[in-house]
This record gives sequence, C-alpha cells and structure tokens, in this order.
Amino acid sequence: MLRTHKLGEADRIITLLTRQHGRVRAVAKGVRRTTSRWGSRLEPFTHVDLQLAEGRNLDVVTQAETLTPFSGEIGLDYDRYTSGTVMLETADRLVTEERQPSPQQFLLLVGGLRAMAARERGPSQVLDSYLLRSLAVAGYAPSFDHCARCGEEGPHRWFSPASGGVLCADCRVPGSANPAAGTITVLGALLAGDWPTVEAADPRHLREASSVVAAYLAWHLERGLRSMAYVER
Ligand SMILES: [Zn+2]
Repeated sequence: MLRTHKLGEADRIITLLTRQHGRVRAVAKGVRRTTSRWGSRLEPFTHVDLQLAEGRNLDVVTQAETLTPFSGEIGLDYDRYTSGTVMLETADRLVTEERQPSPQQFLLLVGGLRAMAARERGPSQVLDSYLLRSLAVAGYAPSFDHCARCGEEGPHRWFSPASGGVLCADCRVPGSANPAAGTITVLGALLAGDWPTVEAADPRHLREASSVVAAYLAWHLERGLRSMAYVER
C-alpha cells in the first residue's frame, strides 16, 4: 500500500504496488467509518493480499488480508517512519505507468520495508540502498566505479548526477561534487547490497553518501519528494 486519499464521505482511493500488476489504484468503500470492517488493513506500509472487483471507473476492494503489517514496527520510530515514507513515495513515482508489471520494484520495496521494520540496519542506509537500487531498476543505474563518460576504471573522485555517476579527472564537468574516496566506496556497497562494507564505514562517509543519493534521486525525479524534507540527515 503506497498511499491513500479521501473520496466522498467515507471512502478512500488507495494506490498500491502489486507483485503482478504494477501500480494499481482502487476504491476502498467505507474505510473511513469508525466501524469499518477493513481496520488498518488498507493503510500505507501494509503488505496485503487483495481482491478487487471491476468498478465503473476504478476497481473496488472486495477483500483484504494482511500479510505483513510493516506500519506497526516502522511507525514506532520517527526516523524509520520518515525514511519508509520516502520509500513509498519513490516507488509511487518510479513506477509511472499504471498496471505495467514491475515485479522487481515490488520485491525491492517489500525487501526494503522488511529491513526497515527489522531494525537491524540504520534507517538512512536502508533508505539509501533502496533508493539506489530502485533507481537502477527504473533504468538510472549510477556508476560508482567506472567513469560514467569514458568508462575508465576507477576509483574516481568526481560525481555528477547529470552524468550518471563518478567521473575521471579528464571527464569531470563543472559543478561535479568531490566526495571522499570512502564515500564512493560506501555508495558502491549500498547499490550492491554489500552490508559488511556499509556497516564498517565511517559515519562521515555514510552521511556524505546520503547527500549524494538525495542529489541523484532529485535529478531523476521531475518534482522533489515531499517526504524527503522530513528525513533527518
Ligand atoms: Zn572519464
């Protein structure tokens, strides 16, 4: 469940990312009544097994069964909640076409929310890894080893969101960032899901990596994410 908004007196339109049908919007009837039979099953973060019936404009939810209520664990902690909200908003924005199957985005999001709820890894690192990987699946894989322009093998010290990754000294463009070498290593590890490297990293490099990821994400989304403003970095 990615997000919901009000419809009429008691209903909501819910936006979902599904395993088989991509992004889907549907109407949940009566969900805002205090006596609603849906309870919290149709809230953001919840992983549900859903049945829909064809409606006049939008499909209508006829049955919902909670598979994993990620909202419980994630909602307990402000940093996890705000980071998780960025994940939902990113998935909503990167899966642009409705009903276009995107099983990889679905699996990445469920895996990311599971890691966020498990509280074993830092919320910023779970978020950054998710953002890099979902951008990669959407076709915007950044390069953190080879020069994004000429392909020369790294390590390189310049980073340009517009160029798609790190740049060698010859290819660097005006306005390229110059992150620490340790930060580039962290970025590559976040993209690859190499957690031992991430966990061993210097906190300064993790923070700098977060700002590089935020800049890279902002470059690829036309409008900024509302939820990003609440994430403490
Ligand atoms: Zn180059």
